[in-house]
Amino acid sequence: MKKLIIAIDGFSACGKSTTARQVAQELNYRYIDSGAMYRAVTHYFLEHHVSITNPKEVDKALSEIRITFIINSKGETETFLNGINVEWDIRSMRISEYVSHVSALKAVRVAMVNLQRKLGKHRGVVMDGRDIGSVVFPEAELKVFLTADILVRAFRRQKELLEHDDLIDIDTIVQNLEKRDKIDSNRLESPLIKAADALSIDTTHITIDEQVDEVIRMAVTKMIPSKKEKV
Ligand code: C5P
Repeated sequence: MKKLIIAIDGFSACGKSTTARQVAQELNYRYIDSGAMYRAVTHYFLEHHVSITNPKEVDKALSEIRITFIINSKGETETFLNGINVEWDIRSMRISEYVSHVSALKAVRVAMVNLQRKLGKHRGVVMDGRDIGSVVFPEAELKVFLTADILVRAFRRQKELLEHDDLIDIDTIVQNLEKRDKIDSNRLESPLIKAADALSIDTTHITIDEQVDEVIRMAVTKMIPSKKEKV
């Protein structure tokens, strides 16, 4: 069976990562969290005081950044920045507050899109983000666009942060999600849009398991036997 490229795009905290990770597990595909890449770049910029209005500083920083993904003993993918595990650090509110400004820079997008295409080169990938179906893999066989009510998204994000003892009030989270939605949707470079051929799923009233089942069902309809299997 020819392996698919599955693009899962949508607003922050709609369950993209959890869905994409589980779909990848079930299909035995590779899961790639493109948001983690922008978060890792943001982490580096903050740590090294890189000015996002200075193109030379941005280019220099990008040349020094190496992002890799390693699967841990539990089978979960973790993000490494220049060899250091930053999987949890990049989920902090400090990074969430700044990431949309960093990810709006053209140089950052060019570098990350190149890396994303390299990682998806061998197909058999589920990648989640904002522009995967529209820009990174316009040829993806399955494009899914997730949406959900803003309060439901905020409570999901709050629960995620609480799992790491980070208690953030719901208003702060709502504000952050709204601010990121606005910047991500209005930026000049590959804004967050639903690709014309993407299939929408509203996740407000459904569980993660239901989301996963729905994407798998969609994926199965896209699977065609490879030439060898046909004869
Ligand atoms: O998916 P997550 O919320 O972790 O993404 C963090 C931020 O990274 C988004 O708010 C957006 O600014 C940026 N991003 C992007 N393009 C992607 C994935 C994420 O611009 N493909």
